[in-house]
Amino acid sequence: MKITEIFQKNQQTLSFEVFPPKNSDAFEKVEKATGEIAKLQPDFMSVTYGAGGGTSKYTTAIASNIDKSGVTALAHLTCVSSTKEKIDTQIATLRENGIENILALRGDLPQGVSDTSEWEFRHANELVEEIKKQGDFCVGGACYPEVHPESANSREDILNLKRKVDAGCEFLTTQMFFDNNIFYNYMYKIREAGIAVPIVAGIMPVTNAKQMEKIIQLSQAFIPRRYVSLLDRYSNRPEALKQAAIAYATDQIIDLLSNGIEHIHIYTMNKPDVAAKIQNNLSEIIPSCKK
Ligand code: FAD
Repeated sequence: MKITEIFQKNQQTLSFEVFPPKNSDAFEKVEKATGEIAKLQPDFMSVTYGAGGGTSKYTTAIASNIDKSGVTALAHLTCVSSTKEKIDTQIATLRENGIENILALRGDLPQGVSDTSEWEFRHANELVEEIKKQGDFCVGGACYPEVHPESANSREDILNLKRKVDAGCEFLTTQMFFDNNIFYNYMYKIREAGIAVPIVAGIMPVTNAKQMEKIIQLSQAFIPRRYVSLLDRYSNRPEALKQAAIAYATDQIIDLLSNGIEHIHIYTMNKPDVAAKIQNNLSEIIPSCKK
């Protein structure tokens, strides 16, 4: 089923992101974890794509398993430093495996690269156009409530986002954020810019302190004082930290839903217990979470 159809059917949705293994040795472990998450029957599940595309076959395999288990799969696809030929092959493989939904991403620039003028795809809007040419896919994209690190300012970033939507992007998933006020501000700006597609709020329950350091470095997300205290207090007690992070994420989600945001995506980090607890915490709030 196409994700846009799910959004029409279910007014509010809870979906989960998983990542594929980096090599064949880890495949079984990841397959097991993602299978357990699929058993929770979320509204859909997304599967990330390794930087540079080296692990593309695992993205397809995991997404295909999810689809076979009866949960709609959304396969991520990046075009950074790739060719049209390679991208078209990957799109054809996804189609052959029954995948109808693709999250079209540029991917992070390799370190030290700034001149991309020779590339066949320089930005995600070009990938969106290519996927749309290659078949009847539902295509989504990424957006950044705290501004993409390469953009000079929020206005420029939103103008570029509009190009992606105009190219055929039918929904947008946000980078993780920990302060809902930043997100509400962003929603106001993107709606004002004429971007009307559904926005899926990306929420990350950060269950260990090391993970948080990496997140800050990669996404440059603002961490509210309340979250810093939680990390300080419980970083030496993993189970307590996990419980507190799930409670924080749940609180964040309930506030979003109460303020009219309808679609929530959890960055599960392949942890079935985290996905299950959040789903259970919302069982009376989002109808599709009641199992
Ligand atoms: P773009 O939309 O191309 O934007 C990148 C930058 O270029 C922005 O600053 C934007 O303002 C600017 N820009 C966009 N279009 C134009 C244009 N036409 N002309 C000039 N400037 C433009 N990475 C992975 O490797 N694998 C994944 O699976 C993955 N999944 C992700 C999922 C989500 C929900 C998010 C938020 C990010 C994900 N990423 C993933 C990271 C993502 O690849 C990086 O953030 C990357 O740097 C930007 O990708 P993009 O698709 O947003 O690029």
